[in-house]
Amino acid sequence: MTSASAQRRRTAREAALAAAVEEGLLDARSPLIGLLDVDGVLAAVDDLHHAFSGPATVRHTFAAKACSLVPVLRLLARAGMGCEVASPGELELALEAGFPPGRLVFDSPAKTVAELRFALDHGIAVNLDNFQELARVDALLAGRSPAGPIGLRVNPQVGAGAIGAMSTATSTSKFGIALRDEGAVQAVADAFAARPWLSRLHAHVGSQGCPLPLIAQGVRAVHELADHINAALGRRQVTGLDIGGGLPVDFDSDEDRPGYADYVTELRAAVPELLDGRYTLVTEFGRSLLAKSGTIASLVEYTKSAGGRRIAVTHAGAQVATRTVFMPDSWPLRAGVYDAAGRPKQGATEVVDIAGPCCFAGDLTAVGRELPAVEPGDIVALYDTGAYYFSTHFAYNSLPRPAVHGYRTDAEGQIRFALVREAQSVRQVVEESGAAHADALVGLLAAGGPGHAEGTAV
Ligand SMILES: *Cc1c(COP(=O)(O)O)cnc(C)c1O
Repeated sequence: MTSASAQRRRTAREAALAAAVEEGLLDARSPLIGLLDVDGVLAAVDDLHHAFSGPATVRHTFAAKACSLVPVLRLLARAGMGCEVASPGELELALEAGFPPGRLVFDSPAKTVAELRFALDHGIAVNLDNFQELARVDALLAGRSPAGPIGLRVNPQVGAGAIGAMSTATSTSKFGIALRDEGAVQAVADAFAARPWLSRLHAHVGSQGCPLPLIAQGVRAVHELADHINAALGRRQVTGLDIGGGLPVDFDSDEDRPGYADYVTELRAAVPELLDGRYTLVTEFGRSLLAKSGTIASLVEYTKSAGGRRIAVTHAGAQVATRTVFMPDSWPLRAGVYDAAGRPKQGATEVVDIAGPCCFAGDLTAVGRELPAVEPGDIVALYDTGAYYFSTHFAYNSLPRPAVHGYRTDAEGQIRFALVREAQSVRQVVEESGAAHADALVGLLAAGGPGHAEGTAV
């Protein structure tokens, strides 16, 4: 059975694809676009807020890397979210979007001194990754108290999920202080004892592929550590637990499965006291808030056949579906075929590979799929691509970033679009590729050197 929210999203997506063709957003001049369902995003935010209702104060932040687009961040700020940032670029995007500094959380395993100073001066919550970083903060504070909450990221080392690269709580993960390592718990407790301003513990167990019980186990370890530190200190110094994000997304269907309510049920089972109000909770969800609301749409440029396999060549490849192309088994996407007017194609099916424009053989977004027969001029849609896909461009083959359009269905049932990001022009690609320094290397030759006198033919 299809849930009402999944059905609404699907209906809106089909209407948006047809409207994108009708309004000329998707045509030969712009054969690749990203589409974002605004109501879908807001519904996900709503689900999240409802799931965590409890005595505890819960501050939900959005992990900016999942959809690093200013209008999306502003929409989420308006919807009451905070923002988790992990680089200077993400920090600047979040400020541009209008998040007050007090609603930001700054993570990242490689914060520079300047970034730390900025965060400390502006009351931005910071999760420190390691003891060297803690020492930097000691030096920057020089006895002052920080303006915002400061936490320590720990790695509960509860193990890996289905995708190694997405599992941040393995025994050797690069993130946080590895809690099960010899002496680590004592070292963390000592760090808190020496610094009354340290007030949070942070863990993000993993992203896509981590089962809920594994995440809950990590949260439980952090909760136990907080209780242990506070008991040892005889005061309630740890007041906040940042439990990260990582709710997996079902890329096989339109459903939100598991949902935030399932996640909270799992958390309550593992840590019954988690939401009793003793600790303020912070969450950092990314993919689960945006994935289902995004669609990549591309015109089919050519269809062909090779070795008995049908291939549809589209404009969507590794530049917008990087993980899927490079790790197809871990990141399969559903694909749909639409006719030139943007209507779902019916009729006889064929087994087909959906290829992208990049010049390497593995640039395929779907392999061996049974889909309605594809023809040039049709549209292929890649579903569930609202997070980490069109917002996370890979500049292979100097392919430009595609335009992204947000959409809503208005009271009359009509689709209304808003431009979220312009398509990058080919000229911009050239400029970003060092055009202003076109003479730089030839100029080095002109300056003379071994074996390259001025005027040497190259
Ligand atoms: C990536 C990341 C998140 C978000 O993960 P999702 O799987 O997108 O929910 C949250 N916190 C940290 C520290 C992260 O690195």
